[in-house]
Amino acid sequence: MRAMTDTAGPSGSLRERNRLRIVDELRRAGRSSRADLVRTTGLSRTTVSKLVAELQAEGIVVERPPESDGAPATGGGIGRPPVALALAPAAGGAIGIDFGHDFIRVAVADLAGVVLAEARREFDVDRQSPAAIDLACELIDELLAEAALDLERIIGVGVAVSAPILRDADGSAQILPGWAAFAPVDALERRLGRPVLMDNDANLGALAEVRHGAGRGAVDVLYLMLSSGIGAGLIADGRLVRGRHGITGEIGHVVVDPNGAICRCGNRGCLETVAAAPALLAPLAPLHGRDMTLQELVRLARDGDEGCRRLIADAGQAVGLVAGSICNVFNPELIIVGGEMIVAGDVLVDAVRSGVARAVMPAIRADAQIVAATLGDRAEMLGAVGLVLEETETTAVLA
Ligand SMILES: [Zn+2]
Repeated sequence: MRAMTDTAGPSGSLRERNRLRIVDELRRAGRSSRADLVRTTGLSRTTVSKLVAELQAEGIVVERPPESDGAPATGGGIGRPPVALALAPAAGGAIGIDFGHDFIRVAVADLAGVVLAEARREFDVDRQSPAAIDLACELIDELLAEAALDLERIIGVGVAVSAPILRDADGSAQILPGWAAFAPVDALERRLGRPVLMDNDANLGALAEVRHGAGRGAVDVLYLMLSSGIGAGLIADGRLVRGRHGITGEIGHVVVDPNGAICRCGNRGCLETVAAAPALLAPLAPLHGRDMTLQELVRLARDGDEGCRRLIADAGQAVGLVAGSICNVFNPELIIVGGEMIVAGDVLVDAVRSGVARAVMPAIRADAQIVAATLGDRAEMLGAVGLVLEETETTAVLA
């Protein structure tokens, strides 16, 4: 795909640059009136009207009744709202994939980030990584058909992975060697022929919650991602904390019991050995069998099963103790509890709250509000869509 600068450079016409500005603004805003576009692009009313008419004739822009799909209309004053313009669903889209340890989630979204189709499958990604790529590609085919979008119209594929990612100085990302024999970027680019971007799942979940979910407006946030593994995304001063090589937020590997069980990272007694899926599912095997999944466990907890609620509460308490210690170092204004376990609901959030209350210094106890992720267990997938939309230009749409 061409970069924006190629089109906007000396060879790109003024008309094409102006079209791009309108399309980019509609991507950013979701929907805008013509008057909004005049204000936000700085183009004249005549130019906006002419280019919008062209884009409508080409099927790239459509008129939408206000609030037809729940997106907020912008610029509406008192009285009759102006006609809202939006990118046509067929104009283009982005794909987000969340590879968890034991599931794959895929979404196809339009260029404003509205999800058109999505799916989730249980899958042992850790042990069957080549087949995980096959399954992701199958799901993409199904979802593109459901969303009536061609793969050629996809501007990029965002991938959230449940593993630490080593980031080089040039920004290129690879999964930490030895953690997983998994190279989804190369494999997916080869299979799909579209640009693929990757980040750690907790980082993407944190960004999604801060931009569109429970963390809107907050600048110092600790996002806890409690899924099969345990991770965190740290937002400080409104920006993701990446550290020297991008390996931050690995709270699942904070040691909570130096004499505890061996962790998959090689250390002993990490938080994951007491609060991640394998540790929660093992004691349930005599009652529910060895094939029980984390998703079944959290559903049972949500629906009132006492044993499952006990396990989720103990896990939440253990995570809260670590999160409270992090508060003493980092003093966030908000702790967001997300990941697949959030389906359990209040039993988890209340337990995290109680763990934090025990570990946090009394002087800053009141600072950190603790809330459930409003994007729920979809935050990481939505963050993967957001990664593409933020880091990819729109030229593909106008080609
Ligand atoms: Zn560990």
